[in-house]
Amino acid sequence: TRTPVNVTVTGAAGQIGYALLFRIASGHLLGADVPVKLRLLEIPQGLKAAEGTAMELDDCAFPLLKGIEITDDPNVGFDGANVALLVGARPRTKGMERGDLLSANGGIFKPQGKAINDNAADDIRVLVVGNPANTNALIAQAAAPDVPAERFTAMTRLDHNRAISQLAAKTGAAVSDIKRLTIWGNHSATQYPDIFHAEIAGKNAAEVVNDQAWLADTFIPTVAKRGAAIIEARGASSAASAANAAIDHVHTWVNGTAEGDWTSMGIPSDGSYGVPEGLISSFPVTCKDGKYEIVQGLDINEFSRTRIDASVQELAEERAAVRDLGLI
Ligand code: NDP
Repeated sequence: TRTPVNVTVTGAAGQIGYALLFRIASGHLLGADVPVKLRLLEIPQGLKAAEGTAMELDDCAFPLLKGIEITDDPNVGFDGANVALLVGARPRTKGMERGDLLSANGGIFKPQGKAINDNAADDIRVLVVGNPANTNALIAQAAAPDVPAERFTAMTRLDHNRAISQLAAKTGAAVSDIKRLTIWGNHSATQYPDIFHAEIAGKNAAEVVNDQAWLADTFIPTVAKRGAAIIEARGASSAASAANAAIDHVHTWVNGTAEGDWTSMGIPSDGSYGVPEGLISSFPVTCKDGKYEIVQGLDINEFSRTRIDASVQELAEERAAVRDLGLI
């Protein structure tokens, strides 16, 4: 029998956590034959609700679930962790300046990075979901000098999935026919969903769409502002789709991308496509044998260049701000 994989989820008592944990425990994160042990990390106020969720997890009698531990101590939460999903974060509240937001999150992600550094398993893989995800990932990474930098990633898979869905709706294609879509840059309103290299049933997506106005004025803003549209409609922020994307991100990272396709992940830049080294930015990546690689050699047209540069500029500003705050 296989040794269980230790999966740590922070913010486990939140909305996304609630949608995420049952799917991890039922085998969707790593595979239908991979047993898991869950560690739920919460702040003290969240512990009781996390216990309630753990009771429900018990009540599902998931065959793959080999244990649940609940804690508010990051050193315990990340002890032996193979996969860490950092969901809990300090949301931006009304009137909050960017500096306040970044420093509040620094107070969460810096100690978590250190606890990962000191306690996690050698093969630890980290996905940051809590916003501002890219920069929170950078903060955690900087606090974990003994962990290979590439193990810290940020989620842009929900943006990726949203873009596929919008493109399918526009063209009448099946989502499964859409390949090679890319989200570039920051998981924020400046993100750039790129269809110029995407394919719809083997044909170039930009040529199939053939509607530059739709691309600039409908597609890009719809994808970038989808979160706000969901809040408006549901009266609560997206949770199940965010959890689903987190599952997809880790599943693809561990189990690989399909032949001829790629995905989008926020990862430390190696300088590819003019993105300054070290920024955690979204790129087109292929995954194989548990490792990801940036897709190289794509031709970036002027329309794309301007948008990638704007989002990367925002990431550079966030990095400068957390440097000034002494968080990295
Ligand atoms: P959610 O579970 O709804 O969201 C958690 C985080 O995910 C937020 O930062 C949110 O950012 C982010 N996020 C990223 N992508 C999306 C998306 N597409 N849609 C929605 N959210 C997205 O928040 P809750 O308030 O329900 O729960 C947070 C939990 O985290 C609480 O239980 C709290 O106690 C816990 N927490 C735990 C910490 C810890 O373990 N140390 C630290 C801080 C909080 P955004 O706000 O920008 O939408």
